[in-house]
Amino acid sequence: MYYIDPHIHMVSRTTDDYETLAKMGCVAVSEPAFWAGYDRGSSAGFRDYFEQLTSFEAKRAASYGIQHFTWLCINAKEAENVSLSREVIAMIPEFLDRAGVLGIGEIGLNKNTRNEATIFLEHLDLAAKTDEQILIHTPHLEDKYQGTRMILDMLTGDRRLDRSRILVDHVEEHTVRWVLEAGFWAGMTLYPVSKCTPERAVDMVELYGPERLLVNSAGDWGPSKPTAVPDFILEMRSRGHSEQAIRQVVYENPVKFFSQSRNFTFEAPEWAEAEVRHP
Ligand SMILES: [Zn+2]
Repeated sequence: MYYIDPHIHMVSRTTDDYETLAKMGCVAVSEPAFWAGYDRGSSAGFRDYFEQLTSFEAKRAASYGIQHFTWLCINAKEAENVSLSREVIAMIPEFLDRAGVLGIGEIGLNKNTRNEATIFLEHLDLAAKTDEQILIHTPHLEDKYQGTRMILDMLTGDRRLDRSRILVDHVEEHTVRWVLEAGFWAGMTLYPVSKCTPERAVDMVELYGPERLLVNSAGDWGPSKPTAVPDFILEMRSRGHSEQAIRQVVYENPVKFFSQSRNFTFEAPEWAEAEVRHP
């Protein structure tokens, strides 16, 4: 089955991974800007990173027939440096009209601090003023419950934002309901060490239905599995879900969500269209 991975950090993966993804049916990826594993020292470092995301990475993906899309921001882990964060936010508009840039992300909270909240709100303001979509990272483990609550309060407190154009990622059993009931899209991340497993993700689809739910690998430079979405497909099949139901979550939902961005120039492969017509 063809699919889209809506959250994966390909800059930290190898070209062999692109080949494997292509062989497994991946036709597009969306890559939010994230933490490099160390705090970048200057806004020039971010300029180079955004250049890499919007030019080189798209070409590397294209050589395997995979369409590459991206999101720009400064990560919550670096928000403690408020002045650097503001320099980066001021620079982002230079890149927003580039091919494949879907919006602002992944913004969010990490340790739920005051500075993180300040920079999160300034990113929201940028997105509102530039009419961009938003992709949100919710914190890990013990910080997730409180951090997700704080994020949803900040989002719903800004009346300029259209909830159907916002994806709240890394939801788990204790946060997914809030996100969906408030009208946002929710992303489930399949990660070997935290977040969610394929089994738990399928449980959530069964509990809440497939509407506005996405599934991703969030593959990065840490322990992660770039082919986690096919694991989800297999788990759905083993529980007897129809091909149409699976396709909705792993292909149609990301297309529907991303299509709200003016730079989503996705071209469905011919064989994908044929599969839709003859399930
Ligand atoms: Zn991420």
